Amino acid sequence: MKVAFFDASVDEIPYIQQWEQATGDEIIQIPDFLSKENVHLVAGCDAVSTKQIPVIDDEVYPQLAEFGIHHLALRSVGYNVVNFELANQYDLTITNVPAYSPRAIAENGLTVGLNLLRKLSTIQARMRRLDFTLPTSLLSDEIFTKTVGVIGVGRIGTATAQLYHALGANVLGYDPVYNAANEAFLTYTDLPTLLTQADIITIHTPLDESTYHLIGEPEFQQMKPGAIFINQARGGLVDTATLIQHLENGHLGGAGLDVLSSESEFFWKQFTTPTDLPADYQRLAALDNVIVTPHSAYYTNLAVQNMVRQSLTECQHFLTGEKLLYKVEP
Ligand code: NAD
Repeated sequence: MKVAFFDASVDEIPYIQQWEQATGDEIIQIPDFLSKENVHLVAGCDAVSTKQIPVIDDEVYPQLAEFGIHHLALRSVGYNVVNFELANQYDLTITNVPAYSPRAIAENGLTVGLNLLRKLSTIQARMRRLDFTLPTSLLSDEIFTKTVGVIGVGRIGTATAQLYHALGANVLGYDPVYNAANEAFLTYTDLPTLLTQADIITIHTPLDESTYHLIGEPEFQQMKPGAIFINQARGGLVDTATLIQHLENGHLGGAGLDVLSSESEFFWKQFTTPTDLPADYQRLAALDNVIVTPHSAYYTNLAVQNMVRQSLTECQHFLTGEKLLYKVEP
């Protein structure tokens, strides 16, 4: 098959080449997002794949149909860039890659959780200020004596719970959907119990109207003094202003944030002046016990490889009439 591969990035190239060598397929690498300006590049191709951050222009749908394209393989989890009314009108099937590597995010969260538990980022910040003393505020704990609360026990929440359980932590889980198999490594509980008992709280729910600011003032108030809060899911799940207050007043022991509501203003971009950064980030960056990462928890070799392979496998399945694994039907 011949695939128009939009938004091809440097990190994907080795996996594209591996695919071409293994299958004989031709993958046309196009560095830009799919748009009305470049949709003509699909001419002569059998399939289209894109990672796509901007919404797909309405004019693209009829043009894809004219070029005989009836499948768009997204290499992302999110599919909010697609107009499904137009996709249906022009008989365009959409697939995504819903789980390129839950372990990538879970291991990143565990790393951040252990770093904050052992106060490594605080110790390093003090050392950068030439302070090598060991005050009692740096006394820390071992993970096997601690309770970890996982909010949202789906793909990533499950992987996270398994990792903490393997280290001997007592793991609590809260999720409206019960999965008996998870009882092997966690104890299901209600949200207030999780918030009041956990030493590390890590959130892994989707963001929608029902989960917007799921963690706000009432929830932070219930957390133990010194609790560590980790959000790798979506910024909007958390009332960031309230989180910052609970960090600045010393109630919380630390926070690990891979996502922020303000992230579109600065994540994956380069700056020269710190004051150009969003105000919430500037306050978080001033705290030794906060680790902010630029939505990079997923970014591993395996995750990138899976994004490429799974999307191309869907292209192959569509063309041969095999069952699609990740058809999106919102
Ligand atoms: P998933 O759909 O597999 O799991 C989500 C779980 O949350 C489900 O079990 C669901 O029942 C539960 N849930 C829904 N509403 C809830 C609520 N109000 N309270 C408690 N639980 C609730 O999703 P996933 O693949 O595990 O992804 C989890 C989150 O991680 C998503 O927000 C996703 O966008 C984010 N994510 C982040 C990165 C990153 O690099 N930082 C990468 C991939 C995914």
